[in-house]
Amino acid sequence: MNEYDSERMAEILEPHNYSSVNEPDQADLIILNTCHIREKAAEKIYSELGRLKKINNKNDKNPKIAVAGCVGQAEGQEIINRSPIVDLVFGPLTYHQLPEMLESIETDKGFPRKKLVNIEIPDIDKFDQLKGSRKSLRSISSLLSVQEGCDKFCSFCVVPYTRGVEISRPASQITKEAIELIENGAKEIILLGQNVNAWFGKGLDESDWTFARLIRELSKLEIERIRYITSHPRDMTDELMRSHKDIEKLQPYLHLPVQSGSDKVLKEMNRGYTFSDYMKIIDKTREYRPDIAVSGDFIVGFPGETDKDFQDTLKIVKEVKYAHAYSFKYSSRPGTPASLMENHIEEHVKTERLKILQDLIKEHTRGFNKSFVGKEIDVLIDKPGNGENRLSGRSAYLQSVHMDGNTSMIGEIIRAKVTKSRDNSLECVIL
Ligand code: SAH
Ligand code: SF4
Repeated sequence: MNEYDSERMAEILEPHNYSSVNEPDQADLIILNTCHIREKAAEKIYSELGRLKKINNKNDKNPKIAVAGCVGQAEGQEIINRSPIVDLVFGPLTYHQLPEMLESIETDKGFPRKKLVNIEIPDIDKFDQLKGSRKSLRSISSLLSVQEGCDKFCSFCVVPYTRGVEISRPASQITKEAIELIENGAKEIILLGQNVNAWFGKGLDESDWTFARLIRELSKLEIERIRYITSHPRDMTDELMRSHKDIEKLQPYLHLPVQSGSDKVLKEMNRGYTFSDYMKIIDKTREYRPDIAVSGDFIVGFPGETDKDFQDTLKIVKEVKYAHAYSFKYSSRPGTPASLMENHIEEHVKTERLKILQDLIKEHTRGFNKSFVGKEIDVLIDKPGNGENRLSGRSAYLQSVHMDGNTSMIGEIIRAKVTKSRDNSLECVIL
């Protein structure tokens, strides 16, 4: 989502004579787009600001420095107090005002500037206000935000506080953006949302559309592939599961975070489903689309997580046989109910559990990739690979695929034979 927001910020600034440069010391404006989800991600911003301060001391450009994203939203003025080189702080809900904000921090003398913190939660639709064309950045695989924010309030998570309440963009806005992306060369569209499958809204015909209906309608456009991330198990409808069978362009890949395999922990997390509810979704989706690659997110060391709870997490990994998954140590976030719970788990226990979990997931990913050796697959070539005459792309199952070939093939879907599997990628020859 931050990647998408960063693209949009670059697009808004383009008509104001900004273009991107390769090094921070060449920039007139530096925006750090930040993530608040875990403490480590949030703290990164301060080490990055320290680095920028050193660069600025040797640079007479005096670039404007802005902190955007959820750390901006959560910490506001505190960021300027801790790091006075920052001129502007804003959150994910106000970045459409970027040109006006930049203007308002200018003074007649140019430097020093006025400081501005803009973390109000506006009651207007950001997307309605977003200027700039989606045609400035060419991307074969393009991101499109359809849903933002979250009302689910999992006890560990800051998203409902930083990204605000759940909103779904109207289908007309989404379709218009999809067409712009396609005209700009997109072959794949990745629909984005904090809980993307909670999308629900007005359709082009003014009737209420479900997320599955939105995908079906978008699939009628001149696009080769459609994906969506991230889904919540509670919003996984039968219609959406069936879409993986019915809609050819919808790729056989499902990112469905479970977080834990323990019913007790899931309850404490306020996730709203059990181990067996989750398994039913996976089994049902596989009935419709047996080859679907399932991916997920896990948190280890949630307050009160016992060894038995952790064993249940390992059990769900073995049952689902994830093709891929992200896993994190629980990170206590200020203002969340879990941060006030008792029985926080010691750091070394979290580290040990994370290692065991990641080793198991790695084993599954390796096995999944290995099962493709000798098979023929379709690959969307999306960029040059490392080295001369090398290409890089994605399989339908979102595996990274590398092969020899000519860069004129970028943007094409080609048939290839898998010759080798690695831990996180496949090697192919073009057929
Ligand atoms: N809405 C999605 C996930 C969005 S947040 C869902 O509910 O499934 C992305 C991931 O960050 C989560 O799936 C979770 O695994 C991780 N995460 C969120 N808060 C965290 C925390 N406090 N500590 C560690 N990981 C966290
Ligand atoms: Fe955070 Fe996802 Fe839970 Fe929403 S559903 S609170 S984004 S983990």
